[in-house]
Amino acid sequence: MDAQALKDSWHQVSRSGDQVPLYFYSALFLMYPETRNMFPVSMAHQRDRLVGALGHIVSNVDRVNELVPFLQQLGRDHRKFSVVADHYPAVGRALLATLEHFLGDRWTPALAQAWTQAYDLVAQVMVEAAAEAAKTTPPWWEAEVISHELRTLETAVIRARMKYQYPFQPGQSASVSVVKRSGRWRYYSMANAPRQDNTIDLHVRMVDGGAVSTALVLGTRRGDILRLGAPVGDRLTLRPDMPGDLLLIAGGTGLAPLKALVEQAIFGGPGRKVDLIVGARTSRDLYDLDTLTKMDAEQPWLTVTPAVSHDPFYRGNRGYAVDVALQSWRGQEVFVCGSEEMVRATVARLLDAGVPADQIHFDEFTSERGLES
Ligand SMILES: Cc1cc2nc3c(=O)[nH]c(=O)nc-3n(C[C@H](O)[C@H](O)[C@H](O)COP(=O)(O)OP(=O)(O)OC[C@H]3O[C@@H](n4cnc5c(N)ncnc54)[C@H](O)[C@@H]3O)c2cc1C
Repeated sequence: MDAQALKDSWHQVSRSGDQVPLYFYSALFLMYPETRNMFPVSMAHQRDRLVGALGHIVSNVDRVNELVPFLQQLGRDHRKFSVVADHYPAVGRALLATLEHFLGDRWTPALAQAWTQAYDLVAQVMVEAAAEAAKTTPPWWEAEVISHELRTLETAVIRARMKYQYPFQPGQSASVSVVKRSGRWRYYSMANAPRQDNTIDLHVRMVDGGAVSTALVLGTRRGDILRLGAPVGDRLTLRPDMPGDLLLIAGGTGLAPLKALVEQAIFGGPGRKVDLIVGARTSRDLYDLDTLTKMDAEQPWLTVTPAVSHDPFYRGNRGYAVDVALQSWRGQEVFVCGSEEMVRATVARLLDAGVPADQIHFDEFTSERGLES
């Protein structure tokens, strides 16, 4: 498979922006009208997400070790949409028709063959992973909300009890849907390591006009039912070859997966020193500080430091979390999570300060991942 040809042609196609997903879905629904029901009535966000996922796949097409786990997770996760093996060829044909349309003369038989091979491989990995998961796990898991705390005007901490066991790794996320608001799925990170009592915590910040975050922050109560897709993500999970100390840098609800790593360290017993820097614009936004301060007091190897960037009267550390974090850097593995801007700026600053790239692990809370509705 000619990986460079795939990347180059994708790069050219994606220059046509919104036209690409528009064409793709028109082709798909025209050729296979039965697929229309699988997608939401309003397709605006769906379009962006498809392009985001395809872009990720194509840009990693020559890194099989990274791509295969991503596709397997995507395959398992997409069982929640009742995506069955029969739909993959339909999507493949619509994709090839889209590429042909946007590439014009550059769409040669050799390129068509390279794309067909690549897509078949992607579909095969996803279908196999979904089929394997179907032997032992449901397409989604249900959880009952047992507490809902509005910690700031726009941030809620939700605890839910999974109705049956939900295996995941600290640092992973799951697509979540609020059953009474039906049908929309967004990713949220589990803010805890797996617990004996099957509870999970979610930290949700409401975004302006956001469908699911608003439902979770303002519209959800004790007793409501959530659905979770299969856990996804490995950017913020600890690998066995990372035995050392950790420096965690959180922006806003980016705290969630990093707090899960703190819990993992607690359950794993002493041995790892953990520095957690919690960034917020104002002290009011430090929505989980009481719990974190308590953890800090109980665990001698844990240091929690809040950093407030936009409050000149704040008495503690003022400035961006990364600047405070750099004062504590002594060769640890660094984990960063927050908004896209926060993560981009933080990683750039860490690299500038000489932190080796292979010791920086990060993920951002974008609105694009997978093919969510
Ligand atoms: C792997 C992953 C893990 C995540 N974990 C968390 C988490 O633990 N806690 C959490 O609060 N969020 C998390 N997010 C973000 C979350 O998935 C949603 O994107 C967010 O809650 C908005 O969803 P919505 O349905 O309310 O907004 P939508 O209806 O999807 O969007 C409404 C508007 O808000 C914009 N928008 C969407 N998402 C964001 C965003 N994150 N920041 C700013 N503007 C946005 C959209 O472009 C759109 O204009 C995570 C995202 C990913 C990819």
